[in-house]
Amino acid sequence: MSSLLLKNVLHEGRKTCILIADGRFKDLNAPQDCPADRVYEADGLAILPAMYNTHTHAAMTLLRGYADDMALNKWLQEYIWPYEDKLTAEDIRRGSEIAIREMLAGGTVFFSDMYFEIEGTMKEVEKYGMRAAIGITMLDGHSLSQQEHKLDTLKHWKDPSGGLLTLTIDPHAIYTAGPETFRKCARLCKETGYMLHTHLSETREEVENCIKAHGTTPVRYLNELGVLGPHVIAAHCVHVDKEEWKILADNGVTVSHCPASNMKLGSGRFPYELAIESGCRITIGTDGASSNNNLDLRESVKLATLLAKVNGDPELLPAELALRWATRNGAEAFGIDAGEVKEGMLADAILLRMSPERMQPCHNLVSNFIYSADSSCIKVTICNGKIVYESDFSMIFAGN
Ligand SMILES: [Zn+2]
Repeated sequence: MSSLLLKNVLHEGRKTCILIADGRFKDLNAPQDCPADRVYEADGLAILPAMYNTHTHAAMTLLRGYADDMALNKWLQEYIWPYEDKLTAEDIRRGSEIAIREMLAGGTVFFSDMYFEIEGTMKEVEKYGMRAAIGITMLDGHSLSQQEHKLDTLKHWKDPSGGLLTLTIDPHAIYTAGPETFRKCARLCKETGYMLHTHLSETREEVENCIKAHGTTPVRYLNELGVLGPHVIAAHCVHVDKEEWKILADNGVTVSHCPASNMKLGSGRFPYELAIESGCRITIGTDGASSNNNLDLRESVKLATLLAKVNGDPELLPAELALRWATRNGAEAFGIDAGEVKEGMLADAILLRMSPERMQPCHNLVSNFIYSADSSCIKVTICNGKIVYESDFSMIFAGN
């Protein structure tokens, strides 16, 4: 593997040279003349960890702006599902490519995806050199032979990307996948070691319907089915009570918080107080571009920090903690030894321009990145020690 020297990059408030070798941070205080296969002049750029988007539906970039300003149920049943029925495998490949380019330009190097026709998405992930966990979506509406085919894919799949790609098993939600499907998925996770990715307790309606159908709330229901465990990633968890947070934490479940989607679909405010107190591992997702409407994880981190404070506690969810949810926590949840700029860790990072007016002055880099920047401040995205995105954006003003 090759080496990369980031020359004169700003790290924790001081200029340094960072050597990356074999995909990992090798030396955060390398000499100026350190030999490397590639030297990148990073003067005027600051380094932060890259981000991990733990819940999305990449190809839904195709539905961006197609149906806005309505509740989840109407949105899904009257607009999204009928549209998705018409998508071809090639449409999905192209939609995924748009998503991947958007994510890399926004400093995201990993996404956990739940969609269909996954072969095209996987090809695009490989082409662009990013990381992903691609879900095999399981729905009760699918025929038995379709399900068997999917399960076969799982059992025979080998990662062609050298460790950047993995699969997950994705029963869509408790309202689209019955108890047998959930049990089957959980069994498969045990056999294969893959994670189980699902939507959980997203809306009040989901909770009410679950109580009607199963006599209990969604988290308790999945716990009773024996589905929960450290291999589970549960998206949303908006309507989860204190005892349920304890169940999630005790089972080692990872939660993917999707603030933009929850606000846009009117699903509710994530219970930050209970979630943080429970000690559960929390990460951040954008959800699909149709309920966001972008895949800018930095923006979702900012929304999370603001939504946390909206009830009157400005100390809840500081920027540093929210960024950790989107960096180290996201990587750790998927067993990726990354998410920090630290010697020995996998080298996933972003280089930020310090020159844009919105980055000036810089009393605190994380504060600027979360509260003030936008994705145009990202000059370079590095994944697994390689530059996978570089922006040539420059602002030209007529005045002076
Ligand atoms: Zn979703």
